[in-house]
Amino acid sequence: MSQTVNTSIRCSRCHQDFSCECYTSINVAGDPELKAKVKSGEVFVKECPCCGTVNLVTSPVLYHDPEEMLMIWLTDGNPATERAAREVFISTPGLEHYTGRLVSDVGSLMEKVKIFDAGLDDVVVELSKFVTAQELGKDVKLKFVSLDGADNTITLTYPKDGKMEMVEIGFNVYEDCRGIVKRNPSMQERSKGLVRIDADWVAGFIR
Ligand SMILES: [Zn+2]
Repeated sequence: MSQTVNTSIRCSRCHQDFSCECYTSINVAGDPELKAKVKSGEVFVKECPCCGTVNLVTSPVLYHDPEEMLMIWLTDGNPATERAAREVFISTPGLEHYTGRLVSDVGSLMEKVKIFDAGLDDVVVELSKFVTAQELGKDVKLKFVSLDGADNTITLTYPKDGKMEMVEIGFNVYEDCRGIVKRNPSMQERSKGLVRIDADWVAGFIR
């Protein structure tokens, strides 16, 4: 079951406090509409009743998809909280076959849901992003957008001059990266449990 809590948010524009219902846990079982709202980010925005500004809710939330056996924790970044979450994840019966992920921001949570919903492996996607960033020759922070078409083109995006630049990569890049992950047992081992799989995590294996 999804859970909400009544919280107070300070508007980023007019600085008025207003109260709203925010999710503390999102369970998308049998609710594709809710999942779509997570992917679009709709569940994370609240409109200020005073000035109409759309504010992003950044409070911690647990995303749970029982059908995909997936749990993603958007945390406050506190190491003690994350350690406790890891303990719960490892010791809770029934979660042995789950994929568990920690993320630090709403954008990363949306990205993870999109990756798993497209049937892709986020470890392989992170490595594909790393390779693509190297090829672009820039220090770009790429995010996964979608997997489309008969030839499974992967679209990534990164911010440039205040706009979102799109990059398309062939599925062969993903397949090559999948091969690298398969040949790397420590990568597979360290992606188990409740872990944060991001650019830093991948870079730790490359250096
Ligand atoms: Zn406002």
